[in-house]
Amino acid sequence: MTRPVDHPSPNHGTRRAAIDMLVLHYTGMANAADALARLCDPAAEVSAHYLVEEDGTVHALVPEERRAWHAGLSMWQGAGDVNSRSVGIELVNPGHEFGYRPFPEIQLVALIDLASGVLARHSIPPWNVVGHSDVAPVRKHDPGELFPWHLLKGHGIGLWPFTGDEQADPADTVEMLARYGYDTGIPEAAIAAFQRHFRPQRVDGIADAETAGRARRLLDAVGGCAARQASPSWSP
Ligand SMILES: [Zn+2]
Repeated sequence: MTRPVDHPSPNHGTRRAAIDMLVLHYTGMANAADALARLCDPAAEVSAHYLVEEDGTVHALVPEERRAWHAGLSMWQGAGDVNSRSVGIELVNPGHEFGYRPFPEIQLVALIDLASGVLARHSIPPWNVVGHSDVAPVRKHDPGELFPWHLLKGHGIGLWPFTGDEQADPADTVEMLARYGYDTGIPEAAIAAFQRHFRPQRVDGIADAETAGRARRLLDAVGGCAARQASPSWSP
């Protein structure tokens, strides 16, 4: 892989947990220069470990052993302080506010290379490879429904509910999302976040048979919550 360009950000602290998550974002700003400046501005108090430009250039902002400030108020599998347990990668994209557009292939190639390295260096189970919207469903929409999670799964990164058209009872959706890791305090937000990640064709926050079927498929893939908790030391 091309070596990341060092572009240190001062916005980081001490981790309070071991790394077991990878969180992907989009920058949601007009251009890469603005995003890079903000992620390194002490007054902004935000950062990430890496930023990947649309031309595939990777910037290293915060060392992985430090706690970067990318997830904010977030929760996954019932635990807050996602920043302490995660590596955060920002993808340059204007986002829903400034003209959301597909992620170029060259950017995705760089991301896959970078994320593969992160997964090789840390014990991160595939169900803990998430988007910002997965861990902050009420506040965040990134990296959004144009992000090709299925493509990453094809490279051994994260999970994808490869399926025909399995269906399940929509009434079970919220309970299944909670088991998977979502904060379901506001059910419609959790459902929309799940759809944005795993059923991007329609993100409406409404539990339907297809959404439920994909949640069921994912839980089957991880062996359900009980198996997951029984193997906290999952390793790749
Ligand atoms: Zn984000």
